[in-house]
Amino acid sequence: MPIKRLIGKIAIVTASTDGIGYAIAHRLAREGAKVIISSRKAKNVEEATQKLTNEGLDVTGLTCHVAKAEDRAKLFQEASKFGGLDILVSNAAVNPEVGGVLDCSESSWDKIFEVNVKSSFMLTKEALPLLRKSKAGRIIYISSVAGFQPFDLLGAYSVSKTTLLGLVKAAALQLAPENITVNSVNPGLVTTRFSSALTQNPAAREAALAQIPMGRFAVPDDIAGSVAFLASDDGLYVTGENIVVAGGMASRL
Ligand code: NAP
Repeated sequence: MPIKRLIGKIAIVTASTDGIGYAIAHRLAREGAKVIISSRKAKNVEEATQKLTNEGLDVTGLTCHVAKAEDRAKLFQEASKFGGLDILVSNAAVNPEVGGVLDCSESSWDKIFEVNVKSSFMLTKEALPLLRKSKAGRIIYISSVAGFQPFDLLGAYSVSKTTLLGLVKAAALQLAPENITVNSVNPGLVTTRFSSALTQNPAAREAALAQIPMGRFAVPDDIAGSVAFLASDDGLYVTGENIVVAGGMASRL
């Protein structure tokens, strides 16, 4: 059982019915936070909420497609019902196309930037009225090592993640005087549905593992611990940082 650093805190984690988002929600709840989980599909929300509440965790779930303003509004209404918001984790991302950045179609580019970048920007703006009422508001984006050094076959996706690194710096500067921190956690390769084309294909898997000095892919819980650190009082004085959690992979890129 992790230490309970988040008792009394209220957290929103987007795209949290599976993969990294689910592991983050699980970890924050195990540390004592009340967590609002969400994703697009009602069935996924229902199942994930059930699983977490079966463990005795204080979790509530609702459907939210992060690109839809009315869905995002529901998250904050829910948080208000519970008394406010202390922690926002913006985790959703899509990658509709595999290929180099200049091969990306306009429609895929728009979708990638709408979900991966604009939704984080909008969620941040929309969370502020509640975060300002918290004693120490936290904003955490899930970006990627691909944001530091683009992956050949994830061109536009990588650029979207680089944009988040800049948003962290700019928003952190603006919000630091209000004691609201803004940081990102940047995973390497994590075994989730999102990365399964790579991690499940034997040749791609071997090539990818050769790039990871620790010799294994991350599991979602490897990422959740860093988010919990930033969300807790241990992360009180950390802002404007893009933290890499990648088994040493960033040193190879
Ligand atoms: P994942 O396993 O594919 O998880 C997807 C989750 O996101 C599901 O709960 C899904 O539920 C939800 N979702 C998808 N689109 C959504 C949307 N538009 N709005 C709300 N929820 C949505 O993905 P993951 O690998 O955990 O990735 C999470 C984050 O980590 C992403 O930002 C990704 O870029 C980043 N990341 C992942 C890796 C990796 O290797 N996996 C590496 C670096 C960074 P529904 O289908 O019900 O919506």
